[in-house]
Amino acid sequence: MNSWPTVAIPPLGAGFHLPAMRVKATQGESLLAGDDEFKLYVCGITPYDATHLGHAATYLTYDLIHRYLLAQGRRVSFVENITDIDDPLLERAARDEVNWIELAQSQIDLFRSDMTALHILPPKSFVPVTEVIELIVTCVERLLDLGFAYKVGEDIYLDISAFKSTLPMPEDEALLIFAERGGDPALVGKRDPLDALLWRAHRAGEPSWQAPFGEGRPGWHIECTAIALRYLVGEDFLTRKSGSTISLQGGGSDLIFPHHFFSGVQAQALTGEPFAKTYLHTGMMGLDGEKMSKSKGNLVFVSKLLQSGTDAMVIRHALMSSKYSADRMWSNEVLESSKAQVERLRLALAKERVSGVELLINQLIAALANDLDTPNALTILDRWSAAELTGELEGDDSPGVVTRFLDALLGLAL
Ligand code: ZN
Repeated sequence: MNSWPTVAIPPLGAGFHLPAMRVKATQGESLLAGDDEFKLYVCGITPYDATHLGHAATYLTYDLIHRYLLAQGRRVSFVENITDIDDPLLERAARDEVNWIELAQSQIDLFRSDMTALHILPPKSFVPVTEVIELIVTCVERLLDLGFAYKVGEDIYLDISAFKSTLPMPEDEALLIFAERGGDPALVGKRDPLDALLWRAHRAGEPSWQAPFGEGRPGWHIECTAIALRYLVGEDFLTRKSGSTISLQGGGSDLIFPHHFFSGVQAQALTGEPFAKTYLHTGMMGLDGEKMSKSKGNLVFVSKLLQSGTDAMVIRHALMSSKYSADRMWSNEVLESSKAQVERLRLALAKERVSGVELLINQLIAALANDLDTPNALTILDRWSAAELTGELEGDDSPGVVTRFLDALLGLAL
């Protein structure tokens, strides 16, 4: 499927050193160094409520990492899926009495335009699950052959026993979260309550595809396993002997378990190697002191903010004003504060000459390299703008260097 239009990145100019970025990995390596080609996989949307600010904050986080790696001169392969076949999408389509394909398409279009407005670099491969069913069938078949999967009635489940010791939390906690996030621990006939669905046999009224093991549709976790391996490791991922580990698996912290756990162990079962070197997760976004969620009906959508005349760069700035890894709050004050800061910044950058550019940029790089500390970077930046606007500084630097840096590294095209 077509990604969204590419975003031009201005050249930084020579003279700036960008050290390897250190992040607070949920699991795996914290220093984003080493890989010749950085293979970045970010779990995409289920297209029925795009794009709320929680989505935007997540995709922005990996965009900032992507931009930083590119500025280091590294090669980045970025792949994102679209979960366009899953229970929540079908349930929403049924509730609203719309065709699920049309609902998905309209939400994907909205997502694309929101990502474009927010200057998120597009993925190299933007892959809807419905376009790769054959690939997923191949993976399920292989898991059956290898003894990692089994049938419960006509459905197929992953056998977790070989990986149970690697659960990211105590088993009783895992069972509770599994039940909350799409799992079926109480289903009779499974070998272990935590075994996850790989293939759901056809039910009346549900879309389905042919497969050698029976008509049906894929489970959620195998979708990402298959897409990440095929598009980042290569077409030969089932036969190659090594090099099957991707650099980074990303998504919101609600994906740590069960989604990233299962997509990871399935990849390991298929390739014999760990799925990702680094797992990195973003915090949840709240609104005015409350959790932002579908059930509360308080989701804030990027498209609505844009329609109301909010500058996309102000939204981007506001999303960067708190730490990516923290659960954080959105409010009108957050937006107003960013609006004022972006205004100051534009005025400072409009000056013919400015001062302290080298120091400023080195401080910004240090903040980004230090676990993507965007709140600190924006504070440093605002202090610089405010000082520039006092009119007391006698600068001799070109503001263009700062403008290009902000565009390239922070995605702020001012
Ligand atoms: Zn995923």
